[in-house]
Amino acid sequence: MWDCLVIGGGPAGMTAGLYLARSGVRAAVVERFAAGGQVLNTERIDNYPGFPEGILGYELAALMEKGLERFGLERLTGEVREVEPGVPLRVHIDAAVHEAKSVIVCSGATWRKLGVPGEERLTGKGVSYCALCDGFFFKDKTIACIGGGDTALEESLYLQKLARKIYLIHRRDAFRGTKIYQDKVLASPTIEVLWNTVVESIEGEDAVREIALRNVVTDVRSTLAVEGVFVFVGNRPLADFLPPTVERDAAGFVVTDMEMATTVPGIFAAGDVRAKTCRQVTTAVGDGAVAAFSVLSYLEHTHV
Ligand code: NAP
Repeated sequence: MWDCLVIGGGPAGMTAGLYLARSGVRAAVVERFAAGGQVLNTERIDNYPGFPEGILGYELAALMEKGLERFGLERLTGEVREVEPGVPLRVHIDAAVHEAKSVIVCSGATWRKLGVPGEERLTGKGVSYCALCDGFFFKDKTIACIGGGDTALEESLYLQKLARKIYLIHRRDAFRGTKIYQDKVLASPTIEVLWNTVVESIEGEDAVREIALRNVVTDVRSTLAVEGVFVFVGNRPLADFLPPTVERDAAGFVVTDMEMATTVPGIFAAGDVRAKTCRQVTTAVGDGAVAAFSVLSYLEHTHV
């Protein structure tokens, strides 16, 4: 019987795991592949305190993971398929069933798709969701980036070091992302912003050749020759394994109270999988600490 299983080993999960291991309860972090989460797909993190020069995403993940070793936190590798409510909770990891008094869901979020014709078929053939993973394939090429949030801005700034020309296509006339990134994007000689524009389809046989565009103000349609399309239109939560009694918001993110408790006793959530407005490494770490505290209190006051 586990006191707590932490589902997901990104910054939220590693922080929760660290707090639990230090407090001596029987806890483990369950991770599908390697620990780190989405931080591994981020080139440089400039807004995590303690690193005045910024830090590379994979370096921060490796440092966080190293910190866990000192306290002997247990690690399980596998995919969580289902969390069955009850006392105790039954957590299905691959074919095995583990009993746990509590879980902290830190499974994060993944990329949302644009949902236009050609996107699915050309994924891996010019359509990508990860600049750090695939940017190199577009060295000296003309590409399009879609979106107007922090991810679209930050990733376009990363890609400008590789691509010859970037069209940043946004459906409105103002960015959602942070001002500091906006300023850099607008000053870039490589990035041209196409405002009020949506992508209607992605064309090409075995590789991306062009995209069909529509200006949402004038309704004028056009095509643009590009060899790559990077889609950065937000993310969706990875929590299909939770019971339906766990409340979600309209986009499917897990609703918690301020102590990270969900609507099901014993199930807590932290990090990007939660319904919240500010998704940062810093807030994931904060969530993870709060969730671990709440679990410790839950274990003390609840007879499981
Ligand atoms: P986001 O903030 O939700 O932005 C998504 C962007 O995609 C928005 O500009 C949105 O347009 C656009 N969009 C959504 N659906 C679309 C569609 N079907 N067609 C065209 N455009 C579409 O997502 P994100 O940029 O991935 O960021 C997610 C969270 O992580 C945010 O909280 C963000 O602050 C955070 N983040 C932070 C950093 C950092 O601080 N360094 C880096 C990356 C991400 P509208 O603006 O019109 O809605």
